[in-house]
Amino acid sequence: MRYDMLILRFGEFTIKGKNRNRFEKRLMEHVRQALTGYTDLKLQRTFGRIYVYLNGHEHGPIIEQVRDIFGIASISPALTVPPELIPIQTASLQVMESYDSKERTFKATVRRAWKGFPHTSQEMNHLVGGHVLRNHPLLKVNVHQPQIELRVEIQEAFALVYCEVIRTVGGFPYGTNGKAMLLLSGGIDSPVAGWHAMRRGLEVEAVHFYSYPFTSEQARDKVIALSSRLSRFAGGQLKLHLVPFTELQTAFASMKQDPLVITMMRRAMLRITERLAEQHGALAMITGDSLGQVASQTLGSMNVIGRAASLPLLRPLVMMDKQEIIERAEAIGTYPVSILPYEDCCTLFVPKSPSTNPNLRVVEKVESFVPEYDRLLEEAVSKAETMILEPEHQVQLTSPDEEDWF
Ligand code: ATP
Ligand code: MG
Repeated sequence: MRYDMLILRFGEFTIKGKNRNRFEKRLMEHVRQALTGYTDLKLQRTFGRIYVYLNGHEHGPIIEQVRDIFGIASISPALTVPPELIPIQTASLQVMESYDSKERTFKATVRRAWKGFPHTSQEMNHLVGGHVLRNHPLLKVNVHQPQIELRVEIQEAFALVYCEVIRTVGGFPYGTNGKAMLLLSGGIDSPVAGWHAMRRGLEVEAVHFYSYPFTSEQARDKVIALSSRLSRFAGGQLKLHLVPFTELQTAFASMKQDPLVITMMRRAMLRITERLAEQHGALAMITGDSLGQVASQTLGSMNVIGRAASLPLLRPLVMMDKQEIIERAEAIGTYPVSILPYEDCCTLFVPKSPSTNPNLRVVEKVESFVPEYDRLLEEAVSKAETMILEPEHQVQLTSPDEEDWF
């Protein structure tokens, strides 16, 4: 079936009064950017939606280009015809005939947005439905639970005829709700947390802590590869701050308080990230914590870790099950990278029995004895390197059993 238009419908942000125009403009930019490879497409923004005039292009590949864009709640490929009865009837039959010939039920739903059209919506339901029925012997009408809903929208400039409504990710256009720093490890969770934050319209900059030479170059490359994958959802570019963490980690390990090392590491990560947030104009920090998953993610641990931060801590996955997180990681393409085995700085220093319920006073006390703690924090911040990743960025990462490029 050769459709000639895509309808991109906006998500929930259309209800947000005076911000709406700003959101819509931003979304239009993102769509335009995603379609730069197609120079002859025409885009048009109208109330609550964007029309993409396909100009002879197949709809499938173009849907693939735009379906991940945050702020788009659904997409329909449609036929456009003059707003007159006969062309509408013909197009309706054509759309219904594009389904393989099996017995099916359908109903026609016509919406007359242009009141100058001579028939009412009700009349049109019958005129369109009847025409299809007469010409397509395998179809039956079922107005309550139709297998196919044939939709017609009549406007002054044209009428739209379509059946398919593809649900997409929704949310807010990227970057319309402020900026936050994402603590990005090499694991499964934090890239997914980043995606969820981006879907709410947050602009994200990633921060990764590495402990070279305790952790390999490969562990760092893995995070670079993950950032590159995530950049696809961030309008094509994602900033990654790489922070050396070896000295702090060594200092914590030397305190001989093994069960508290992870707690102290997490608190230091937040402190450093908070300083980076200040430098880069971010107002929150995002982590991939999920309640109860590991010792540092019990309520007790989260409480003591969170006390080190004064910016809001956003934990998009906190109530999600691992399986849901994994499914999302697969859908956004980060999963195959995340499961590569290179250890990150935390796995390396994991004590035999990390505290699941650290005591804030004790932790603060031990931290007060860490030699030159403030200087180490400052130094980590000042030695952070920043990279800008794009989806095309290639990283060579080999998994132990097979050669793979990411
Ligand atoms: P993930 O799969 O994201 O690594 P996890 O379940 O393995 O999460 P932890 O390793 O305990 O959990 O980490 C909890 C959160 O702390 C991570 O989701 C991430 O936001 C942050 N974090 C952990 N290690 C790092 C690191 N090396 N650099 C940046 N952030 C980190
Ligand atoms: Mg981890």
